[in-house]
Amino acid sequence: MSELIRLSAADLAAKLASGEVSSVEATQAHLDRIAAVDADIHAFLHVSDHALDIAADIDRRRAAGEELGPVAGVPLAIKDVLVTTDMPSTSGSRILENYMSPFDATVVARARAAGLVPLGKTNMDEFAMGSSTEHSAYGATHNPWDLDRIPGGSGGGSAAAVAAFEAPLALGSDTGGSIRQPAHVTGTVGLKPTYGAVSRYGAIALASSLDQVGPVTRTVLDAGLLHDVIGGHDPRDSTSLTDVWPSFADAAREGARGDVLRGLRVGVITELPDSGFQRGVSASFRAALASMEAQGAEIVEISAPHFEFGVAAYYLILPAEASSNLAKFDSVRFGLRVTPPGTPTVESVMAATRDAGFGDEVKRRIILGTYALSAGYYDAYYGSAQKVRTLIQRDFDAAFAQVDVLATPSAPTTAFRLGEKIDDPMQMYLNDVTTIPANLAGVPGISVPSGLAEEDGLPVGIQFLAPARQDALLYRVGAALEALLVDSWGGPLLDRAPVRGGAL
Ligand code: GLN
Repeated sequence: MSELIRLSAADLAAKLASGEVSSVEATQAHLDRIAAVDADIHAFLHVSDHALDIAADIDRRRAAGEELGPVAGVPLAIKDVLVTTDMPSTSGSRILENYMSPFDATVVARARAAGLVPLGKTNMDEFAMGSSTEHSAYGATHNPWDLDRIPGGSGGGSAAAVAAFEAPLALGSDTGGSIRQPAHVTGTVGLKPTYGAVSRYGAIALASSLDQVGPVTRTVLDAGLLHDVIGGHDPRDSTSLTDVWPSFADAAREGARGDVLRGLRVGVITELPDSGFQRGVSASFRAALASMEAQGAEIVEISAPHFEFGVAAYYLILPAEASSNLAKFDSVRFGLRVTPPGTPTVESVMAATRDAGFGDEVKRRIILGTYALSAGYYDAYYGSAQKVRTLIQRDFDAAFAQVDVLATPSAPTTAFRLGEKIDDPMQMYLNDVTTIPANLAGVPGISVPSGLAEEDGLPVGIQFLAPARQDALLYRVGAALEALLVDSWGGPLLDRAPVRGGAL
């Protein structure tokens, strides 16, 4: 295995800047890795034909003395929910098979402008609905730690690509946990920014009041470097905040060397049902808290009585918004068109197209959402869910009056087996219990590896949540804990742990 693929994005960027390595060499090393392992992992739906040309262009510009950004020449994997002009964008759905966008998502355009080299598009649950990638129309992704297990979802492709050293950086999207939960089960880092902090222009919408785009990486610093590239105001996204953000890479660097944990008040939610958590997940969480406490952090019990209703509220609000967002896939404007036999009508073509183009989970949520929004039930379902959402927001406000950050395990279990929950939507939904509240309230959240569960040796992540707009605090705290733990493990989790499943 080439040493280049094991470097963090920050270290690779330094070698690119010094001229020790070219972007073509780095890109080729990652393309070779994809060719070697992706038949087993299936992280990518599409591998770019243009990556080496783009890399060569960066090398040329650097040689000509052009001033390039801090990550220029570093390869990037892109979740297929983000539209791209030079690769198909399917959002994991048959209905968008081979769909080519006439424009780039803002985050993709910013990545290109920063000199990042798009390697390809990563697999995901169809329209980002799911926690395992098993709802992808193009087959599931496999967890590099154990090929029989899920890589999380919906962004399992991005997380698996990063964990399997197929890409140093990846973009994800998080509507109810799709960046953080895949990071948790693959031993990687994922951050969901504050709602409005990163543009969604060109992110195929799932639930517009919940969706955020963010980084998936192997280190907290790398996440900060990518966030610095993609973040900030975008006039094309009407929900985009106009804030001027600090450098998140600098925040991560400060966290790694500074004294961030001393006096930090970390809230632990009393109502989170310990019984629902796998033993090794709870143990890893408690151990991470203890090591923070040993550095001077103060652990405070916090009551957030409405968090436990987050899943119920989310699975009404999300389907309601999704049923509206997906109405545009009508056989006329985008992608697939299926013409049924006989004399087709507009309606019969639309019905046949949606029947053939959408998978079971998407249909389930469209039916649920349409029902919840229907006139007679609107107040009972959608209206009640919105009230619960407000109560959860108030829980956050009350919590952040007492503590700087909240901490939870990033998900209740380690990576479950492929096939284990696919026929039981409720079990799949319950996996999102700790990630969903952040989306409902619009606050940022990060998942950082906290260790391996003793009983199965699989990765576990700890989640930190901060008040809206305090994304930089998450980078400082995440990097501080990461530095502590990596030191205690004698190296990064991904390097240290036995990589099983045979292929790697
Ligand atoms: N697992 C959640 C769902 O199925 C999260 C999805 C997401 O964040 N895109 O809706």
